[in-house]
Amino acid sequence: MSDTREWPCPDCGDAREFVQPPCADGHTDDGGDCPEWVCADCGTALLADPAPVAVTFAVRRAA
Ligand SMILES: [Zn+2]
Ligand SMILES: [Zn+2]
Repeated sequence: MSDTREWPCPDCGDAREFVQPPCADGHTDDGGDCPEWVCADCGTALLADPAPVAVTFAVRRAA
């Protein structure tokens, strides 16, 4: 199932389309929904449980 959401992206500073990456954490193994969404534009991740919360990747901020 491919689904998209439109949320304000903190990195893009504007509304962007978010998509769900393949879940690697087993959230969907028992039929649940993976809370992870990434901006289709810049790749910033949001956790949607229940409201979207920006996730700051240390690796993206380092350097
Ligand atoms: Zn997941
Ligand atoms: Zn973005």
